[in-house]
Amino acid sequence: MRAVVVGGGIVGLTSAIALRSMGIDAVVHEQASDIRAAGAGLGLWANALAVFGELGLSAQLRAIGKPAEMYFRDPTGKLIDPPGFSTDDHSYLLVHRAKLSELLARTVRQENIRLNSRLAGYEETDAGVTARFTDGTTVEADLLVGADGAYSVVRSQLIPGSEAVEHSGHYAWRSVVKPPAGVRVDAGVIVLGDRRSRGGYVPTVDGSVYWLVNQFESPSLEGTPKQQALERADLLDTTGWNPALLALIESTLDEQILCNQIMLVPPLPRWVSTRVALVGDSAHALSPHITAGASLGVEDALLLARLLASTDDIPAALAAYEQDRIPHYGKVNELSRKVENSATPDEFATNYVAFTHWMLNR
Ligand SMILES: Cc1cc2nc3c(=O)[nH]c(=O)nc-3n(C[C@H](O)[C@H](O)[C@H](O)COP(=O)(O)OP(=O)(O)OC[C@H]3O[C@@H](n4cnc5c(N)ncnc54)[C@H](O)[C@@H]3O)c2cc1C
Repeated sequence: MRAVVVGGGIVGLTSAIALRSMGIDAVVHEQASDIRAAGAGLGLWANALAVFGELGLSAQLRAIGKPAEMYFRDPTGKLIDPPGFSTDDHSYLLVHRAKLSELLARTVRQENIRLNSRLAGYEETDAGVTARFTDGTTVEADLLVGADGAYSVVRSQLIPGSEAVEHSGHYAWRSVVKPPAGVRVDAGVIVLGDRRSRGGYVPTVDGSVYWLVNQFESPSLEGTPKQQALERADLLDTTGWNPALLALIESTLDEQILCNQIMLVPPLPRWVSTRVALVGDSAHALSPHITAGASLGVEDALLLARLLASTDDIPAALAAYEQDRIPHYGKVNELSRKVENSATPDEFATNYVAFTHWMLNR
């Protein structure tokens, strides 16, 4: 069986690893000139670690990650620990995105990755699929996996009118930096602040620190990325208890700060056709207030590979995949909306851990 995987992000690379590990010949086509990882740090939850464990990557992942816990504080610094949950519901592994992408690309192996290869569209028949690329080349395969992110070309052909929409007023700023002189960061601090802001920092395995600031329903942006981030960081500290966050942002060059308008993919009526399947953000780009899109996406990759490996009937495997994923993401969306609509830091923290508990204990 031969698969074309469109997109060399975390989920596309993981899809190729999973498919190849089950004897399916998968090749990744990435539009960029290299395997890049837009972003800074990434929290991998235990569900994602289990997927990577099955793919034989546990030890390499642990070597590039640092265990962390997602406990929130209110803007006065008070720790919020909702009752009824265990430490496991708060625990994750913090990795640098670029290092994770490097590890995954190395595992897929260079000869199975085509760079500068942007999908233009595809034609499918009962017997297979032909992927067409913008450089005029075509590739024949038994199936096509759309792992091409929120702006997916595959999704726009599979489900016309399903374009990602701007999550209005919802922005994220982030970077990874070495702490400046005089700033010591031994443990992570994440704060639920005023005016629907959230942010903080988490140490990485190599002594640098991942800082992030988000705001929902932000007023329109003015100033440099650093000024914008500092303005939001002020909302996270009403009593001056947390000077480290301001110092970390201050020490970051503007060009090192990644600022995103958050995009959402609306819930989809279908995820597959007879020869095409969506995985990861192309099917379910979510608001990052649950910080789990990649952790959920790599589960898609393993499930799809397992179903394909269990039968020669590709359309039946894809149908089974869709049957599992649509209700699953119905629940993800329900829990995610609760987190987003929380009125207070305590409510947010409780809804958040209810989501992680569900995700990790299904
Ligand atoms: C601020 C923020 C913080 C987050 N934090 C976390 C976190 O802590 N933990 C977590 O689990 N998740 C987190 N997420 C979510 C996570 O980043 C995404 O869910 C994940 O990166 C999606 O991976 P993907 O491979 O599906 O898509 P992408 O990373 O978008 O990759 C898609 C790839 O496809 C390529 N591509 C696109 N179109 C084409 C084409 N036509 N032809 C060929 N290639 C194409 C792109 O160049 C890209 O490389 C966060 C998201 C945001 C915005």
